[in-house]
Amino acid sequence: MEFDLQAWLLIGLPLAFVLGWLASRLDVRQMRREHVDSPKAYYKGLNLLLNEQQDKAIDAFIEAVQNDPDTTELHFALGNLFRRRGEFERSVRVHQHLLARADLPASERDRAQHALAQDFMKAGLFDRAEAAYRALVGGEHDREARLALLNLYERSRDWRNAAEMARALEVSGAGAFGQRISHHWCEVALEADARQQSAEATEALALAHQAAPQAPRPQLIAGQRALAAGQAGEALTHWEALLQADLASFSLVAMAYAQAGQSCGQVERARATLTSAHEAHPSLDVIKALAVLDGSALAQSPLVLPYLKQQATLAAAQAVLNRPAEQWTQECADAVGKALDKAGRPLQRYRCAACGFEAQRYFWQCPGCLSWDSFPPQRIEDQ
Ligand SMILES: [Zn+2]
Repeated sequence: MEFDLQAWLLIGLPLAFVLGWLASRLDVRQMRREHVDSPKAYYKGLNLLLNEQQDKAIDAFIEAVQNDPDTTELHFALGNLFRRRGEFERSVRVHQHLLARADLPASERDRAQHALAQDFMKAGLFDRAEAAYRALVGGEHDREARLALLNLYERSRDWRNAAEMARALEVSGAGAFGQRISHHWCEVALEADARQQSAEATEALALAHQAAPQAPRPQLIAGQRALAAGQAGEALTHWEALLQADLASFSLVAMAYAQAGQSCGQVERARATLTSAHEAHPSLDVIKALAVLDGSALAQSPLVLPYLKQQATLAAAQAVLNRPAEQWTQECADAVGKALDKAGRPLQRYRCAACGFEAQRYFWQCPGCLSWDSFPPQRIEDQ
């Protein structure tokens, strides 16, 4: 027994040493080969990528990844390439493979998760994208994840979650989201009204107004709801508040405002508001509303011709053209002519059939795409 042990020590130890040494040599040689091979394949892939030969680049990167499966950067590069090419199944597989690795550091794991969420988003798999982005909340990619989730909630019309997410973003200092939150609550209110849940709609609208006190939409909806409930006077009050908050948006409700004024016997009040609105911000919608209030045709309105002279729009020109013959003057003709001239100018250009370049004069060679004879010899409106 004792002899056996000595013999074992004498023969076995050197043998173990030699085997160990050989193994380590093999390891080093293997590592060396990998380290030489990977950059070579990597540079090859990069070169192909720069030469816009993406198919070959992918082959080179796949080869590099096979040689060196531990390299995360290569995986990320490959995953991004697949995603950009619209090969989402493959990019998902690359990123999931990365995530499955137990040795991946936390920051790289977050990065892979982020890439995976982008894959799902681009692939249109929104429920999976949502789950992937949710896993990123509170981490390194917190803000991007929350912004993506906000877009996802808006896309799926999940307005309450959208409002909550926008609020959280605002609190975290990602910017001002008041207007957006106000829209979310307006949508909640409209949906609640469609379900006949009036109290819920009122509550949502109050939150919409609170989120952005200067926003026109909550006042606009509040007026419409009051009118639908038969409270025309209250509708007038809401829309006057809208006028104070946002002059330009008032034209959206000008006609309904005039009708509400008529239905509750407040014609003078409505006329005064509409007149001052038109003075502050000339608008054909307001002129139409004033005409309705007076029970006259738009063509008869004394405001139409001055508006046409100022704005030269086709709608105003049409209103003036509807005047009876005895009211038709040279001034009307000049103003209508000016509006037609302005509207027709873009149609009196020549347009390249190859690239769409437009020009006042005719070109035999397009200055945009350098094609010869690509301009049809007729102006756009004559084609
Ligand atoms: Zn062209």
